[in-house]
Formats: sequence, C-alpha cells, structure tokens
Amino acid sequence: MTMQGLYLHIPFCEHKCIYCDFYSVEQTHGIKKFVDSLIAEITLTAGSVDITNKFTTIFLGGGTPSLLTPVQLQKIIDTLHRHFPIAPDAEVTIETNPGTVDVEKLRAYKNIGINRLSLGVQSFSPKDLEFLTRIHSVEEAEKCYDDARKSGFDNINLDLIFSLPTHTKTGWVHNIEKVINLAPDHVSAYSLTYEKGTPLYTMLKNKQVVPLQDDLDAEFFGLTMDMLEHAGFEQYEISNYAQPGKKCLHNRIYWEYHEYFGFGPSAHSFYKGKRYWNVNDLVKYYKQIKAGLLPKAGEEVLSDQQKVEEEIFLGLRTSGIDLKKMKNIYNLDILKNKAAEISSFTERGFIVVENGCLRLTKQGKAFADMIATELI
Ligand code: SF4
Repeated sequence: MTMQGLYLHIPFCEHKCIYCDFYSVEQTHGIKKFVDSLIAEITLTAGSVDITNKFTTIFLGGGTPSLLTPVQLQKIIDTLHRHFPIAPDAEVTIETNPGTVDVEKLRAYKNIGINRLSLGVQSFSPKDLEFLTRIHSVEEAEKCYDDARKSGFDNINLDLIFSLPTHTKTGWVHNIEKVINLAPDHVSAYSLTYEKGTPLYTMLKNKQVVPLQDDLDAEFFGLTMDMLEHAGFEQYEISNYAQPGKKCLHNRIYWEYHEYFGFGPSAHSFYKGKRYWNVNDLVKYYKQIKAGLLPKAGEEVLSDQQKVEEEIFLGLRTSGIDLKKMKNIYNLDILKNKAAEISSFTERGFIVVENGCLRLTKQGKAFADMIATELI
C-alpha cells in the first residue's frame, strides 16, 4: 500500500519538561508569526516537489501544537489541502497536552478535520508528574480525556513514561489499571531516557537522580505488555499498543520507508530516497523563510550499511526481520553471518526464527536494543 505523510512541528511549550530533547522553546507568544512562516514553508515546498500519490496522514507534533487556536490550525490544514492531494479518509493527529484544551476547543478540532488525538499524559501519579515537571495535574489529564470523548473523538492515544526513579511496581500497576479503565484506542509507553543536553541528564551526572536498574526496567516493561495485551491491545511496535483497527498510520510511514514531508524547525522529510531535515532554531528558521528559502539544515542518502542497520533495528521493534528481503535486497544472510549470536539468543529464549522472519519473543523485547546491536 502506498502511503505518504505530512508532519508539522509546532515548537512552543508553556514549560520545558526536564527530560525532553525535542526542539521547542519555552514561550507562548509569537505563534502568529510562526503560523505565517509555516504556511510559507508549505507553499515553498509544494512548488519544489512532484507529487503523484495522495497523502494518507497529517501529524501535528511538537512542542505543544494544542497551544494553537483552532483558527490557526485551520489555516495550516487548509494550506496543506490547497497544495497537496490529501486522501478524504486521511488520519489527522494532533499532540495535545492536558490543560491546554477544553471541550469547545476539541470540538473545533473535530470540525476542522482532526480525527486523532495524542494526549501527553505520561502518568496518573501526582508524584511522577511533579518529577517530570509536567504542567498538568492528574485531574486535568482525566478531564482532558473525558472532554475528548465528549467531543466525539474515537481515536485517542495516551503517552506514558515508565521506569521513573519515583516508580514502584504497585504504582506502575495502578497507572496501567487507570489507563485500561479509561479505555483509550492506542497507548505509547516509553521507558524514561536520560538524553544528553537535558536538565535530567545534568541531574544524573550530578548524582541528584538514580535511574532504575535494568532488571526493574524490564519488569515494568513486562507488566505493561502483559496488562495491555490482556486488555485487548496489540503490541505492534515495541513501545506502541493499539486496539483493533487503531494502529497509528503515521508511525507506519516512518517504519516502512514511505515518503513524508516535514515542516517547521527540526522537522525531517524523506523524499525520493533522500532524508533531509530543517534547522532546529526558530530564529534561523524565520530568517530562511523570510529570504524565500527552504529552512534545510542537512540531508543524507542512506548507504546500504545504514539501510541494513535500520532494517534490523526497525524489524526487531515491529513484526520481525524479513530474512528473504535482507538476502534479496542487501545480499545479506543474517542466519549464516550471525550464526553464533542467533544461536545464543535463541537458547536464551530472546528470539525465534519462523516463517522466514527473525523476531523477538516477549522476553526478548526487553533487550531489543542490545540484540539489534549484536546483530548489526
Ligand atoms: S510538553 Fe512535550 S514537547 Fe514540550 S517540553 Fe514537555 S515533553 Fe517536550
């Protein structure tokens, strides 16, 4: 199936969370100027590419896109429709932070064609939210979810973060139970990472925070998988779980090497086998757009070695590595080249080879990165 996606990066946040390494600025002013620049970038891009297929997804991410008013969002979406052919049933997602929307705003989102919400809830424990320096409370997260349902959204994702230093097993079980009771359509659950350049990373270096041990992290991950699976979710990627028919199509575009265009500072694109990305600086972004130039910062054509590495990494995170494809396209016989590693992982119950596919077992999923590194 041919798919194509459009991504818009809205780089504003009310507050910069300590763990976040996405490009965003801690300000809520200047949004009008940004929207005008984004519209200019969309128009410039459309004039420089050949489009044959319809676009199947639009994803408004950030940052906090829900800081934009419905009128501003409508302007952006209308511009996309004017310049790109968009499928009438396209998946249109907006990332939304609790505390930045109400029923009225959400209804307006629905009216402008947004049909999927991704709520940045992260946790239903006040202690966790405080640690993560999120601006919303548990009550606001619950209200936001209720408001979304009241507004008619039937495709809602909840983002969660586990393995916080504040987490206990009971606390995390309570979190997942809460999620299951709310019954979202999709859950993204990631283990907390300590990204260089974030305040959290500095806290780690200064020993102000002690990360959970790997075995506990694996236990939290196992609990998440078991409980969500029991509640009818399919784990279609290592960190993503969906109810039947609710897998995120935009994710598939990235994972299956379909083309996409990204707009806004730091946004990435993939077009005609080339990956390129925008400047991750709002001032430089405005300057380029004002000069009538695309705000590109760099580009790359993936080498065969990079493609193999990505296929292995993504294959393990999703439905498995297609061994025939690896042989036909990259002339790589993983079973032969990595016989010792594969035999060791199989004996430990981490991987299985079946139907021409090498995939992780449930137990192996907790060690996906380590296994990918060994196979690469
Ligand atoms: S709200 Fe989201 S994008 Fe903004 S700082 Fe927090 S984690 Fe990052």
